[in-house]
Amino acid sequence: MSTLKEFEVWFVTGSQHLYGPETLKQVDIDSKTIADSLNDSSVIPCKVVFKPVLKTPDEITQLCIDANTAPNCIGLITWMHTFSPAKMWISGLSLLQKPFVHLHTQFNRDIPWDKIDMDFMNLNQSAHGGREFGFICSRLRKNRKVVVGHWQEEDVQQQLGTWTRAAAGWNEMKSMKVCRWGDNMREVAVTEGDKVEAQKQFGLSVNGYGVGDLVAVVEKVTDAEVDKLIAEYKDQYKFNVQDAQMDSLRAAAKIEAGMRAFLDQGGFKAFTTTFEDLHGLLQLPGLAVQRLMADGYGFGAEGDWKTAALVRTMKLMATGLPGGTSFMEDYTYHLDPANTKVLGAHMLEVCSSIADATPSLEVHPLGIGGKADPVRVVFNVAPGAGLNASLVDMGNRFRMIVNPVDVVKPDADLPNLPVARVVWVPRPDLRVGAAAWILAGAAHHSGFTMALTAEHMEDLTEMAGIEYLCIDENTTISDFKQNIRNNEIYYMLANSLT
Ligand code: MN
Repeated sequence: MSTLKEFEVWFVTGSQHLYGPETLKQVDIDSKTIADSLNDSSVIPCKVVFKPVLKTPDEITQLCIDANTAPNCIGLITWMHTFSPAKMWISGLSLLQKPFVHLHTQFNRDIPWDKIDMDFMNLNQSAHGGREFGFICSRLRKNRKVVVGHWQEEDVQQQLGTWTRAAAGWNEMKSMKVCRWGDNMREVAVTEGDKVEAQKQFGLSVNGYGVGDLVAVVEKVTDAEVDKLIAEYKDQYKFNVQDAQMDSLRAAAKIEAGMRAFLDQGGFKAFTTTFEDLHGLLQLPGLAVQRLMADGYGFGAEGDWKTAALVRTMKLMATGLPGGTSFMEDYTYHLDPANTKVLGAHMLEVCSSIADATPSLEVHPLGIGGKADPVRVVFNVAPGAGLNASLVDMGNRFRMIVNPVDVVKPDADLPNLPVARVVWVPRPDLRVGAAAWILAGAAHHSGFTMALTAEHMEDLTEMAGIEYLCIDENTTISDFKQNIRNNEIYYMLANSLT
């Protein structure tokens, strides 16, 4: 997962025949210039593919049908260089199944005050053409992003790049297969949910396997494969495993190789485990999960398939960006009123993509689960901007809650804590951040990232058509509660609007 260049976004320009061939030729040339420039932009991770200017309802409809069936096309950038009467777009937009962003730009950045004439006015009509297009999108209740500004502006390209990453994530969700070893942690609520509804809404499919199915694959792992992995461990980590613990390490390597083979064979991009169902595995998969996440797999503990799918999606969206992405859990608090913060961790399973330095490979006892001492890598996370995202099933809809956080250094070393951990301050602060998170019903598990922003997540939820709640520096509890109440009504009614 080093690049998203295999994906295409199509640059689609609307116009009409009214302007005559000369003007339309210029529209085509200008559109190609913009498309090529966006394709070359370092902040837009996918290919931007120019499409000849659309002038008739049939051309628009055909383009939308082509986009739907082109496997590498993850969405459209639409632009109205001129006025494009929007009834022409009804059929196409109604059929369109790929997400789109409306780029509200103009080829010429500046009004040429001393030279402007009616030819310029006829060619540069985005200011009103974009409004006509906007009306039909709103009239058809089409979710989309609107980006306003000159196409060469860095911020405009950044917004398009963010949207493009979300589109790649959405494309991934549509075909994702999630492997669930064992079921849920007994009696836990938030990790449950409607898997049929999830497949309808997101496309992703979640299927369960007995842990015995995994054990059968683990048992086939050869000594040579184990030796190879142990050499990798020695190479990649600070090796703090004692001679007497080498059997534990070999068992962990065997689990990793088995899990990887199982996932690859089934085409799974995300998976869950549960410590309540480890029959036949010698230890809770810790290191294996950490390493599979580092290689791009999504993970959710205790059967949490929603978070597993979310982590995989976020990892794909973050491809090539600095900063890692991991499964996470709000674990414990520091409640000094002058210095409140959260220590995030899990029993073992935090992805080393967020490590601040070479992780330390260690074996320690685990109080929960009744298995042999598991292997894990231990590390801290460097300060910086991050966010937690949680996906929950509200019964009549899925809700995504996003909370930007500031990762901070732990106040002191943590010599007795044998798990990877990250310390953060939620925005706007722990008091409001945690209260809003809890009022929203967001989970104790999350997808944690230092690569993506709330805008990435918001764009993704627009594509998925699910509820989005952001808790940030502008959040107040009264407004947040009112948003939740408003959304309750909106989502009850929304289905009748389409
Ligand atoms: Mn957990």
